[in-house]
Amino acid sequence: MTLTIDEMAAFCKRKAIVFPSCEIYGSMSGFFDLGPYGVEIANNIKQSWWKFFVLDREDVVGIDGSAVNSKILWEASGHVQNFADIMVHCTKCKEKYRADVLVEDVLKLHTEGMNAEQLDAQIRKNNIKCTKCDSVLGAAAPFNMMFETYAGIKSPESLCYLRPETAQLIFANFRLVYDSARMKLPFGIAQIGKAFRNEIAPRNFLFRAREFEQMEIEYFIHPDMESECPCINEVIHDTLNIFSEAHQKNSAKPESMSVKEILLKKVMLPWHAYWMCMMLRWFTSLGAKSERFRCRQHVKEELSHYAKDTWDLEYEFPFGWKELQGMANRRDFDLKQHMQFSGKDLCLFDEKKKEKFIPYVVCEPSQGVGRAMLVFLFDAYEYDHKRENVVLKLSPKLAPFKAAVFPLLSNRPELVEKARQVFDSLKASLRVFFDDSGSIGRRYARQDEIGTPFCITVDFQTLQDGTVTVRNRDSTVQERILAIDLKSKLLKGLV
Ligand SMILES: [Zn+2]
Repeated sequence: MTLTIDEMAAFCKRKAIVFPSCEIYGSMSGFFDLGPYGVEIANNIKQSWWKFFVLDREDVVGIDGSAVNSKILWEASGHVQNFADIMVHCTKCKEKYRADVLVEDVLKLHTEGMNAEQLDAQIRKNNIKCTKCDSVLGAAAPFNMMFETYAGIKSPESLCYLRPETAQLIFANFRLVYDSARMKLPFGIAQIGKAFRNEIAPRNFLFRAREFEQMEIEYFIHPDMESECPCINEVIHDTLNIFSEAHQKNSAKPESMSVKEILLKKVMLPWHAYWMCMMLRWFTSLGAKSERFRCRQHVKEELSHYAKDTWDLEYEFPFGWKELQGMANRRDFDLKQHMQFSGKDLCLFDEKKKEKFIPYVVCEPSQGVGRAMLVFLFDAYEYDHKRENVVLKLSPKLAPFKAAVFPLLSNRPELVEKARQVFDSLKASLRVFFDDSGSIGRRYARQDEIGTPFCITVDFQTLQDGTVTVRNRDSTVQERILAIDLKSKLLKGLV
């Protein structure tokens, strides 16, 4: 049985993972608060991403840009002019709809790339009405999705924006990073941070929220290197599930292809193939199921204004295949724009050719923390009929607690005291949970549900020979080991 997105939201609320924001005041749609266990999972996701893509690589460095930016940054990026959804509203009850979502829902039609006129035409032709009160809808019109705010006293001059994406801060800092951190091409700049989009119709829980966190890399190369990726051999035997423009136009199924084959058939540029593989490796290294991923090429009509070629890494959610991360080849679009708007020279100098050039961004592997969290939760969630509880089979790297420690009986002070000692010996090196309430079965179930990989029980034998039982979450197999060996054994199995 697959869980729906609403059931997942209910599970997350019950298990202290994600709450609707400020629920006591009725909560605002599209905003969420992480609970005590959710904040641990999200932190683990971010730390693991940062280690995999920044700390373990020589060619990527990080920044952490400001979330409030001056208007000109977003004029340069094109967001002030273009970052809009098409909206329609009911002429009677004033309900607002995202026109593409409404048309897709009602007509089961693909609306990617349709503009306001085309969506409006679909609404008129098919006589689509307000789904709440069945009245006529007004004309479809663009609605800019950036949140506005003011730095200082409110005035037209002090207008600024909450960033709708993290990428532009990377472009704006490109030259400073290059000079001050002494980078050499090719190199990437990574960033994890909040972004804000005033979605007309946020839905599907964390999938489309108004405030979310992005993990992003902009990867810069010399323009001559667009078709040459020096690290491609690292992934040459990896396979990707390819859903190209040709597959989509011929209504063909996605095809599993090795990177070697992908390059031979010129399906994808080597840089795209490389970064797709790295992204997929990161997901699967943390327990995600590779068969639920595919790489879908944007068809011509849906390409962004800046992109030459874009591929999305998609995941099969209960509500369909959806984008996890977009990978656009933006070339020099952004740096050129920022040069023009700032008047600053962001060019680099080619020593061999003795000429200036603007670096290309060949790939921008970016994704949301919330979407990644949904992937890991969906792939980890299992209802165990024998145990009669949910077992959240999260990778130990992502689990909020690495282990839980219990005294077998809570009314025996000698067991409680010994269990406390075991807990204290672990808590400095691992995030552990202490629980002495309820039956052992209930305590196991509670830990299963939040994904704790190991449960350690102190019993009467512990008092005699210093051994404890360690129960494995997934197999329920129990093993007796010396309490003094716990730390090294757990650390070995977890990190
Ligand atoms: Zn209405």
